[in-house]
Amino acid sequence: MNAINKKKIWFVTGTQHLYGPEVLDQVSNHAKEIAQTLNESLTAPVEIVFQPIVKTPDEITSLFVSAGADSQCIGIITWMHTFSPAKMWINGLKRLHLPLCHLHTQYNKEIPWRSIDMDFMNLNQSAHGDREFAHLLTRMKIRRKTVVGFWKDKAVQNSLSNWTRAALGWSELQQLKVARIGDNMREVAVTEGDKVQAQIQFGFSVNGYDSDDVTAIIENLNPSEVEALLNDYESSYEIDPQLKQGGEKRESLVTAAKIELGLKKFLDQGGFKAFTDNFENLGTLEQLPGIAIQRLMEQGYGFAGEGDWKTAALVRAFKVMAQDAPGGTSFMEDYTYHFGNPSQVLGAHMLEICPSLSKNKPRCEIHPLGIGGKKDPVRLVFDGTDGTGINVSLIDLGTRFRFILNEVNAVLIENKLPNLPVARVLWMPQPSLEIAASAWMKAGGAHHTVYTQALDTEVIQDFATLAGVELICIDKNTKLYELEQNLNANDTAY
Ligand code: MN
Repeated sequence: MNAINKKKIWFVTGTQHLYGPEVLDQVSNHAKEIAQTLNESLTAPVEIVFQPIVKTPDEITSLFVSAGADSQCIGIITWMHTFSPAKMWINGLKRLHLPLCHLHTQYNKEIPWRSIDMDFMNLNQSAHGDREFAHLLTRMKIRRKTVVGFWKDKAVQNSLSNWTRAALGWSELQQLKVARIGDNMREVAVTEGDKVQAQIQFGFSVNGYDSDDVTAIIENLNPSEVEALLNDYESSYEIDPQLKQGGEKRESLVTAAKIELGLKKFLDQGGFKAFTDNFENLGTLEQLPGIAIQRLMEQGYGFAGEGDWKTAALVRAFKVMAQDAPGGTSFMEDYTYHFGNPSQVLGAHMLEICPSLSKNKPRCEIHPLGIGGKKDPVRLVFDGTDGTGINVSLIDLGTRFRFILNEVNAVLIENKLPNLPVARVLWMPQPSLEIAASAWMKAGGAHHTVYTQALDTEVIQDFATLAGVELICIDKNTKLYELEQNLNANDTAY
């Protein structure tokens, strides 16, 4: 994973001067304690930072201006310990361009039945303080996440971690540069889209480059870097004897290593964290990049094949959101079906599946590729891990974007596949392949997806909310007729 500077979430507590300095001291101490506890509970590499409590319109406005100017700040959590009249927040919120999470909690977990008095009631007023605040958010049409519950509860902390991950992904998209090496696969519809609108909506930019830009770098590689990478291959994978030192196809492995080094330098020199290629449009590259792309994805670069810039950007966002979470994330394609009881999907691509999904040590192999007219490409071959996962697609409907998500259960592949020379994952879609595939196609979902076992559906829901983009979730509760009604309603709403 590329090193990413630790980002910060500001914890902002609203109150007012009405209660006097003693109460405000308590509000401040409680807020500090909550911020610290939540910070320790975060699973994502993000820090929750306590901010001095805000009591006046000027303090609130100044805080939002400072948050917007701080490049490390990727989001704001707000909480009203007491009442904080919401007109005080209007001018500040007008300046808000960061993800917002409204935490509706209370410092005291339970009502102290025997001792409760009006002082207690006046201090623990989130129940109506947060309603006043949320009313204004709704009136100002501010998209946000709302988390309700006691701040020490795991469910609350988990929801905050999920939102923090979404905020990380969103922050990444705001400066992400995607390089398209070659154009779109000819005549393919779903990988096309409006790149200008995507930049307006999501923040990432997409620009085209030529394979010559990469081969120019390859020609100037230092032999010692190539040697070092070949040694890395030897120690990381089971290498096909043909590709070993002295093997008849050793030169193909050397070429593959050069392509990896060339691509990585090209990406790093241009500041690209995501890229696409197209097997029809490889120009001067000798092989379709296989192992190169697989390893670059494992390092955190976004990728998708056939010019699919939307999925490439999404893979990068997911890699950033999945930092420090167990489970892999990859570019994926629904490839072929096993109709049975239950029916299953074999997911794969021509070559480019990320080894973060691998169950065992990958094998490094070389096989012919029937399309593209290039030399045989080297690739890593492995089976994926079992467990829950999600497939997510981003499509351009012409007038707007839409996310489609399907929850799946991945299973181990029981059979040996001696003739299948690509990495693969086997899964059962929820609630069944028959309903899931029907729902997916009705929603217009692509054959390309991001597949991850590291992120909960809630992260993607929060991410879609941040983007202001429709999300269709296909899960164990999906009923086709309801889904169609949902699609019809959304056509009107969006
Ligand atoms: Mn494809």
